Amino acid sequence: MQIITEPGQMQAIAEKLRLNRQCIGVVMTMGALHEGHLSLVKLAQQTAGIVILTIFVNPSQFGANEDLHKYPRPFEQDAALAKAAGVDYLFAPEASSIYPENYQTTVECSTVTKRFEGELRPGHFKGVATIVTKLFHITKPHISVFGEKDAQQLAVIRRLVIDLNMDIKIIGAPIVREDNGLAVSSRNIYLSSQERNAATILYKGICHATRRIADHETDLAAIATEIEQMIQSTPGCRTDYICFVDDKTFEPVETAESEKEYRLLLAMYSGTVRLIDNMKIRA
Ligand code: AMP
Repeated sequence: MQIITEPGQMQAIAEKLRLNRQCIGVVMTMGALHEGHLSLVKLAQQTAGIVILTIFVNPSQFGANEDLHKYPRPFEQDAALAKAAGVDYLFAPEASSIYPENYQTTVECSTVTKRFEGELRPGHFKGVATIVTKLFHITKPHISVFGEKDAQQLAVIRRLVIDLNMDIKIIGAPIVREDNGLAVSSRNIYLSSQERNAATILYKGICHATRRIADHETDLAAIATEIEQMIQSTPGCRTDYICFVDDKTFEPVETAESEKEYRLLLAMYSGTVRLIDNMKIRA
């Protein structure tokens, strides 16, 4: 595995790979690699002959009061995990080479970002859309894998690729969970053991929704309220949002129609740690 830090060098390598008719797959991460990230690498390897993994803690997608400076950066460990997973190139640039002095261009996706993470984290998706566009130009992939863990982000990227005529196939990867149902996340290290236990209420809420819908309940707003009550009555936990949405537009839906597909979006705090999760649901 080759480690690259300069955008120009990564671009030159990607261009050469393309000239040699190699299929390039890219997986973008902020590092602190875990099983979720590695499942994305595995999925990319099933389609692409060459896999580029990017590690970049993107400053422009963090809000002023968020965890940019304390975000974990175990680079040596990440490089070892990437190598063991069979990654071909690890692209890990410095912020100064991605956003040099006088940098002034951004990419914004307007409608799908209106609510939920977009509303609660102003500027977040502008930062995401901009860095994803830049990393696409640097790594020149044919395919790229993103996790359903960040479902709204995945919807933004699908929109971005269509709207800007990027010839890249976007593949969504299922959420990897711990045995207790908690979605694996780099931010789970912030949880104390008590907060980690309490956080399992999030997956219990998802299971509750799945059961209620299997029992033919069509009042999605009522199910969301039930989950909200489950979370609010768990010590140390409070909800941020619980909502069923149309899976493509991310517009809220109150009543289920038979055979249609929805997504349940959940965000909550366990102590001070914010957790998001979601599940695709077919009525
Ligand atoms: P991050 O490093 O948190 O920015 O995540 C990088 C990529 O990994 C994104 O596409 C995430 O959606 C994906 N990802 C993070 N956690 C998981 C998980 N538990 N299961 C599947 N994909 C994940």
